[in-house]
Amino acid sequence: MSDENNRKLLAYLRDHTDAMVEDLKTLIDLESPTLHKPSVDKLGQFIAGRLRELGGAVEIIPKTEVGDVVRARWNAGDGGVVILSHMDTVWDVGTVAGRPTRVDGNLIYGVGAMDMKGGIVIALWALRALRELGLFPDKAVTYMLNSDEETGSRHSSEEIEAEALSHDVVFVTEPPQDGKYKTQRKGSGGITITVKGRAAHSGADHAAGINAIEEMAHQILAVQAMTDYSIGSTANVGVISGGTRSNVVPAEAKININIRATTRANQLALYEKITQLKPVNPEAELIIDGNPGIQPMERTPQIAALFKRAQRLAADMGFHIDEGSTGGGSDGNKTAALGVPTFDGMGIVGEGGHAITEYGEIDSMPERAAVMAAMLREDLAAVVNGAQ
Ligand SMILES: [Zn+2]
Repeated sequence: MSDENNRKLLAYLRDHTDAMVEDLKTLIDLESPTLHKPSVDKLGQFIAGRLRELGGAVEIIPKTEVGDVVRARWNAGDGGVVILSHMDTVWDVGTVAGRPTRVDGNLIYGVGAMDMKGGIVIALWALRALRELGLFPDKAVTYMLNSDEETGSRHSSEEIEAEALSHDVVFVTEPPQDGKYKTQRKGSGGITITVKGRAAHSGADHAAGINAIEEMAHQILAVQAMTDYSIGSTANVGVISGGTRSNVVPAEAKININIRATTRANQLALYEKITQLKPVNPEAELIIDGNPGIQPMERTPQIAALFKRAQRLAADMGFHIDEGSTGGGSDGNKTAALGVPTFDGMGIVGEGGHAITEYGEIDSMPERAAVMAAMLREDLAAVVNGAQ
């Protein structure tokens, strides 16, 4: 299914690489920490302007605590594709002044360059290329950008889920993992264990105490031992607190655990195992709190089929793409959990997300935008239905 038009898209995008870099610099300079609504809204207005230029019917969905959601639609009708991006970063306003954007050969270093302003540039230019070359598909295309992904998308989950359910397929412009499109993401949950013991004077009354820290030590080892790398399940005791002073038998200790798993079944099994922990000292009490957490994005046959199609389109345009998995979550976990085939990791190739070393690879932008544009031209409903 060699397609001359896809190669035209790639050529157009490569010809506009410099403009993509300029756009990325502009987006980086519009700093957008999750918790600074005025800044995120400024970025949102800028992107909304771009989407209007691209012929999208733009709507701003107001939010009070975080930045407004920006949504643009092309073509009416059921099905089609919704592209998801997040505008927020983990960096405070003022970070760019201390760490200005810098291009070094093929690399662009910048605040949020990889996570995920590069992904926004890719989506904007995929849409632009389709329009400029008269190749925009007839089906419904929606592009929605939220602004609280880095804190769990609590304020935008409703919109994300509604859009996912009303389209055939979800695209997510998170950065790839080691350059690979993401066809699998782990689910992640938080659990707290509190041990209640009994306080006592460590000198006068040592035997009367029930040492909560000692009890917790047993529980920590038990939780850590639940990690099973062979199936991708991990349990991490990440925070610990307890006791008051060294001459008091501690009455209370607490740990915070993060669990991750690649399938819902494994996630629930791990969660169950933790909730069934019993105190080693029968006089101590365990209080276990939490939930299995956000669901994994499992590599379903539909998701695998989306990647295979993308890989074929890329090969046809003359380059190779790979798929991979990650332990990290994204809004893709939410949409995949609803059963909507989700293609994630469509953003800019790079390294150092959430770190000061963050950079993106410039030449990946036209290629990835071409993959997105070519995928938007495909009958993806048929691709995912054929995989069932
Ligand atoms: Zn991100």
